[in-house]
Amino acid sequence: MTDGKHLIAGEWVAGSQTFASRPATGEPRTFAEGGAAEVDRAAKAAEDAFWTYGYLPDSKRASFLNRIAEEITARKAAIVETAMAESGLPQARLEGECGRTTGQLQLFARHIEKGDYLDRRHDEALPDRQPAPRPDLRLMQRPIGPVGVFGASNFPLAFSTAGGDTASALAAGCPVVVKGHPAHPGTAQHVAEAIDAAIRAEDMPPGVFSLIHGSTNALGEALVSHPLIRAIGFTGSLGGGRALYDIAQNRPEPIPFFGELGSVNPVFVLPAAAKARASQIGKSWAGSLTMGVGQFCTNPGVVVMPEGEADAFIATTSEALEGVAAQTMLGDGIADAYRKGLDRIAAHGGTQTVWAGESSGRNSAPAVFVASGETWLAEPDLHHEVFGPLGIVVKAKDVDQMLEIARGLEGQLTCTLQLDEADHADARRLLPILERKAGRLLANGFPTGVEVADAMMHGGPYPASTQVSTTSVGTLAIRRFLRPVCYQDIPASLLPEALN
Ligand code: NAP
Repeated sequence: MTDGKHLIAGEWVAGSQTFASRPATGEPRTFAEGGAAEVDRAAKAAEDAFWTYGYLPDSKRASFLNRIAEEITARKAAIVETAMAESGLPQARLEGECGRTTGQLQLFARHIEKGDYLDRRHDEALPDRQPAPRPDLRLMQRPIGPVGVFGASNFPLAFSTAGGDTASALAAGCPVVVKGHPAHPGTAQHVAEAIDAAIRAEDMPPGVFSLIHGSTNALGEALVSHPLIRAIGFTGSLGGGRALYDIAQNRPEPIPFFGELGSVNPVFVLPAAAKARASQIGKSWAGSLTMGVGQFCTNPGVVVMPEGEADAFIATTSEALEGVAAQTMLGDGIADAYRKGLDRIAAHGGTQTVWAGESSGRNSAPAVFVASGETWLAEPDLHHEVFGPLGIVVKAKDVDQMLEIARGLEGQLTCTLQLDEADHADARRLLPILERKAGRLLANGFPTGVEVADAMMHGGPYPASTQVSTTSVGTLAIRRFLRPVCYQDIPASLLPEALN
């Protein structure tokens, strides 16, 4: 029986403590509550597994990833049904997310089979070089060791148990210990069953994957502090992510903490585009802002535009929002945090409410506010993400003020330009500023809907993420769990096979 249990190194383990899930629909279920003892058991098994798994040929790890994808697909109906009940997300979204999750696993399988992720380099020996000979230097990427992964509340599948962090760590050769998110433990369990089946079918060491359920900060702290855990993948709040980042840095041996903490993803509407199509952009923005009840890290929460065109923009935005009813958020805590953020912006003296629907309980409606460029520049309080369908329209008096607003931004996952041909001169001034602020720059689109691809960058300067040079989406995400090792004058017969 697997029900409500942790999966630790191939065994389904009950605990002395339990917690009750809080699904959007249906009855709560009981799950084992993990702590330091479960983390210790899983981390030791992961370290044992590393000595086998970290040295397997790429083809074997690729086959394992593909098998996990197959096992998830075989359980898709049950996974989607449970995820719908727990998260309140609709069936079509979760079916899409399931496809994205298996697609990610298959993409990483193809990526490691190509082999270029190893970034092999060779400086040949120069024995006659003066004044000193050069040794033979060969370099390649090696897996970092056991990785801790935090399931994310807003992607029960694609950023959770077998999501992007797990897929990229397993592809790199790193065993994984997942702390399941307490908002969707039943979904995590189904996916863990799929991974367990793949481990058995592919004859992998059982410690290569563990799932520990839990609803306490103590479990996350134990995972980040464990001496055998070598890196962490995290998606979630700025407060939680920062607390865990600090623990990772203050360990006797600090480890990399790859936290993706979100942002307000500003959209700059340049003058010619605003004149030509403010209404159309307002309508499209409303769609992106409210997609998935605004629960995306790339939700475009701020629009900066010329004040003269703002009325037309706001009019169509409001019209589009009239048709959007309050919808179920991922958890009571998230709905509560949304309402507190909404009240804070509404109570702010410098903002006016443009649109605010009726929210109640776990159901939240969109809200849009407007502020002048001066107010925005003077009030850093307005710059923080409110997770959910909340937007602020900032009316800039001219392009110079837009540039000033851009210079004052915190780190972002994305920045977007809405521009026409006649805006290119202004865009040329704005882009170098935005390039320093965000990991991804877009033109004439919206940032929701992150492509899983080779050229994707989903990260950015703090607080968008805690490691500016990495991404949590796309094949480059594997780099987080690799480290370069140089082999100097090591005899060929002793080198890793991939270097010969
Ligand atoms: P969260 O509160 O940051 O929690 C994420 C994970 O970290 C959970 O497993 C949580 O464990 C753990 N955790 C949080 N604080 C911790 C601490 N101080 N010490 C140890 N572990 C800690 O995020 P969430 O539950 O997903 O959602 C809450 C808020 O996060 C949302 O309202 C939203 O503002 C933000 N969020 C942002 C994004 C984004 O991409 N921008 C995505 C998701 C959520 P326990 O809950 O078990 O303690």
